[in-house]
This record gives sequence, structure tokens and C-alpha cells, in this order.
Amino acid sequence: MEVTTLYQKQKTFFNTQATFDVSFRRAALKKLLAVIEKKEDAILKALFQDLKKSEYESFLTEVFIVKNEIKKVLNKLHTWTKTQRVSGSILNYPSQDYLIPEPYGCTLHISPWNYPFQLAVTTVIGAVAAGNTVVLKPSEYAPHTALIVEEIMTEAFSQEHVLVVQGGAETSTELLKLRWDYIIFTGSTPVGKIIAKAAAEHLTPYTLELGGKSPCIVDETAPIKLSAKRIVWGKYVNCGQTCIAPDYILVHHSKAEALTEALIHEIKQAFGDDPQESFSYGRIINKKHLLHLTNMLKDATIAHGGTVNEKDLYLEPTLISQPDLDSEVMKKEIFGPLLPIISYTNEEELKPIINRYEKPLGFYVFTKRNAFIKKIQRDYSFGGGVSNDSIIQFTNDNLPFGGIGHSGVGAYHGKFSFDTFTHYKPFIKKARWLDLPTRYAPYPKTFKVLKKLLGMM
Ligand code: NAD
Repeated sequence: MEVTTLYQKQKTFFNTQATFDVSFRRAALKKLLAVIEKKEDAILKALFQDLKKSEYESFLTEVFIVKNEIKKVLNKLHTWTKTQRVSGSILNYPSQDYLIPEPYGCTLHISPWNYPFQLAVTTVIGAVAAGNTVVLKPSEYAPHTALIVEEIMTEAFSQEHVLVVQGGAETSTELLKLRWDYIIFTGSTPVGKIIAKAAAEHLTPYTLELGGKSPCIVDETAPIKLSAKRIVWGKYVNCGQTCIAPDYILVHHSKAEALTEALIHEIKQAFGDDPQESFSYGRIINKKHLLHLTNMLKDATIAHGGTVNEKDLYLEPTLISQPDLDSEVMKKEIFGPLLPIISYTNEEELKPIINRYEKPLGFYVFTKRNAFIKKIQRDYSFGGGVSNDSIIQFTNDNLPFGGIGHSGVGAYHGKFSFDTFTHYKPFIKKARWLDLPTRYAPYPKTFKVLKKLLGMM
């Protein structure tokens, strides 16, 4: 069936208001959870086929996150969907004022290849929880996972409710011509701009989950061994293909050598002397992306790693020493296992470097100084930050996950997902038993009484 026909079917289905029923949404999400549990092995297999992720890593960073999100929604949905009473305005006295959560309608979801299960399914959970229908287009670059996602959605939902459409940019382009009630996109900033332009055509609201160059500061007080261990995990999980991975390190010059040695030690601890042989180390998604990454190595001073095996899509965990700020690796988001290390002497040097780039998605600082953490919180704008660890912000569903400026528009996860896909419709029930004369013309010459009444004198 053609996409336009299926889209029309979703519209018709939404208009039946079947999704307005909270027990309908809960039943659908319970089914989704059951299907995911049934197909867990197939999901892990698909992720291995697409990205050579170990089952352990895939469970931790993809399947667990999704299952946890569904369980949270199932626990909280009855509360979230309730109409909320809010206090009224003195101008309207007497009245009862409400916020009524309503679904937007038919939503379009376009997802990337790097966490191809988690990033595709999590947005669907939020949209279904809020009572919307979904058309999801997974990334064509993770085809095995895209297929299992389609299988899962087809088994868990009717096509009028949630539908997966496979394809690449041309499919997205076709889908974007349709008039959606909400669009959520996860991917690169340049494509994010294309999505925003297409959404503007129909004045469709949207969320954009994008990327950027996330800095990682290590100051002179940071515990080196622990910092190195946590940076190595956050950087090399999924082979560095993580939107919030530390992109580059800014280390106090007194600790630069010790940190580099500690990072090398931790890389070896995690992946052995030959990471290509390691069960725990993944692969680059495809040749094109590998080429993009190896191009960044051309003018770089390699402090560790640098081995490439094109046939195996392998790129060793690599440290780059003191790159020029105009070199390839410092021009744009790396999105791979290359980690530039830049040393600084005074804190004043940090801002001009960090502010060369657009507002990042993540921000990391390793330090023992609370005052420095506070300064970072005040002085920089970023999607989400962490002190003394990296990338863990995505695991707490009580925190909104999203960027700012070029790293994204809007946020999701947990209740924030529900809010993203919900229009909170205000409604005032005005009483009939009293009709204060205050607002009606003809107006008095002075407004002293009005000011007194409104508490303005
Ligand atoms: P991408 O922008 O190339 O592709 C993302 C999706 O958009 C895919 O489904 C793709 O088919 C589609 N697409 C590609 N070109 C398009 C076009 N011209 N018009 C419409 N749709 C198009 O991104 P990617 O390579 O899959 O992912 C890497 C980027 O995503 C990185 O920048 C990374 O930081 C970012 N990212 C962000 C998050 C986040 O949560 N903020 C998560 C993962 C990845």
C-alpha cells in the first residue's frame, strides 16, 4: 500500500479517538514490551550485524533503556493523562481553570543508525503514551535493526496506529511533504535544518535531537585514573559513534602527560592490546563514515592507536595529541573513536576554544573543585552536562534529553517525552453565579479601585 494511503488511514484512525483512551495506550505499550522481550535475542543479533556491538553493550545501552522507558510510562500514565486543575486569575473570578492533555495527532519519526534500536523505539513510546499515531522511518544504514524494529512494531501495533516505513533520504523527503501534526527527528544538524524547513511549510511543531562537539575538561585537581576510565568508557562505547560522546579533551598542562598515559592504560584494560580482536569493541557503521574519520587523521599527531582496517570497518581507539584548532579533527563533530587532547595553562583559555563551536549536546568536567563545576554550569550553555563522568545523562529518565541551538530543539525521555507529544490545552470554566462589573465599559475615569482590586497598590 502507498505511504499516502497508509497516512490517510492513520488520520482516519486518529479521528476515531481510539487512542484517547488511556487503557488503550497502556495495552498497546504492554504489547510492545512483550514483543520486545520475545524478540530480545533477535534485537541483539541485529545490532551485532549492523555495528558489531557486543550483546552486553547492546543490552545496556539500547534494550534496557527502551524497556525501562516503557515500564516507567506504564507506571505513570494514569497520572500524566489526568486533566490538571490550576489556580485562576483574579480577573476571571470566579472560575475553574484546567490544563487538558491532548495528543497532537499523526506524528512522523525519523531516526539515525548509531543506536538504531533505542533511538527509534524510545520516541515511539512517548508518542503512543501521549495518544498519537506514528510513522517511523529508521535509518537505512542499520538495515538489520531497521528490519527487526519493523517486525516488532508490526506485531505490537495495527498499521493505523504505528507504521514503519523503510528507506533513505528520498523516503524522508516524500514523508516530509505530508502534513504531520508533530515531527521528531534524531540525526545530524544539516539534516535537522531540512526537517525544520519542511515542518515550517505546514507550521508543524517539531523536536530535533542533533549533535555537536561536546567538550571534556580535565583540570589540575581531577583524579586521573578514575577520570581516564570514565572518559574511555564514554568515548569508545559504540566505537565513539555516540551523539553525546566527549568530542575533545581540554586538560590542564600539568596533567596532560599523566592523563594521556592513563587513557592508553584504560584503553588497553578495556579492549586489550589488539582491540580488533576484542569482543567488547564495535565497528564503524560503513565505509563512507570510516573514510570521513580517517580523513581527520591525515594531519594529526597520533599519541595512541590510529590503525585502520577498511575491510573490517575497524578503527582503533585513537588519541590525538595537541591538534591545531583549524585541523580536520577540530573542524566538526568527530562521531567516531578519535579523541583529540588539547592542553591549557589558564582557565581563561577554555572559553575561546569551547565557544568556537556551536552550543554542544554534552559537556563534561572532571575536577574536585565545586566552585569550578558551578562556574561551568553558569558560564556555558549545553544540552546536558556531567561532572566527573561522561555520557551518563542519557540514562536518567527524570532528566530531559535534548540539545540547544545547533545541538537540538526540544527534549524527551520519561515525562518529558509525554509532554513533547502532548498539547496541554487550557480551559476555563467560568461561573455564572457572579458577574463582577470590573471589566465592562463604560470605564470609570480613574482606576484606583481597579488597581486596589488587582493588588497593584
Ligand atoms: P543523518 O542526519 O544523516 O540521518 C538521520 C536520518 O535522517 C536517517 O533516517 C536518514 O535516512 C535521514 N536523512 C538523511 N538525509 C536526509 C535528508 N536529506 N532529508 C531527510 N531525511 C534525511 O544522521 P546519522 O548519520 O544517521 O546520525 C549521525 C548524527 O546524528 C550525528 O550528528 C549525531 O550527533 C546525531 N545524533 C544525535 C542524537 C541525539 O539524540 N541528539 C542521537 C544520535 C545521533
